Amino acid sequence: MNKHQRTKIKAIILTQIESLTEESQAPENAARTKLRLERLGTALRRIEADNYGKCFKCEKPIQKSRLLVFPETMLCTDCLKKPGEQT
Ligand SMILES: [Zn+2]
Repeated sequence: MNKHQRTKIKAIILTQIESLTEESQAPENAARTKLRLERLGTALRRIEADNYGKCFKCEKPIQKSRLLVFPETMLCTDCLKKPGEQT
């Protein structure tokens, strides 16, 4: 992932954090929102550390189309399809 892509993903993450923070007023969403914010925060740190976009399990690059929609994702689609297979 090059610098331009990182900058783009970072902007997406920051936008999502901002909209989630506004949404978090609704108490029924609080737990889910908190979890998502934590994941987005982790994703941001991984971008800063240049450790972003790799599958946490198999270390293959995660599909970019997926990262653009769910930037907090840590698994590639292959690994997501095999939830029973723990490392
Ligand atoms: Zn994987």
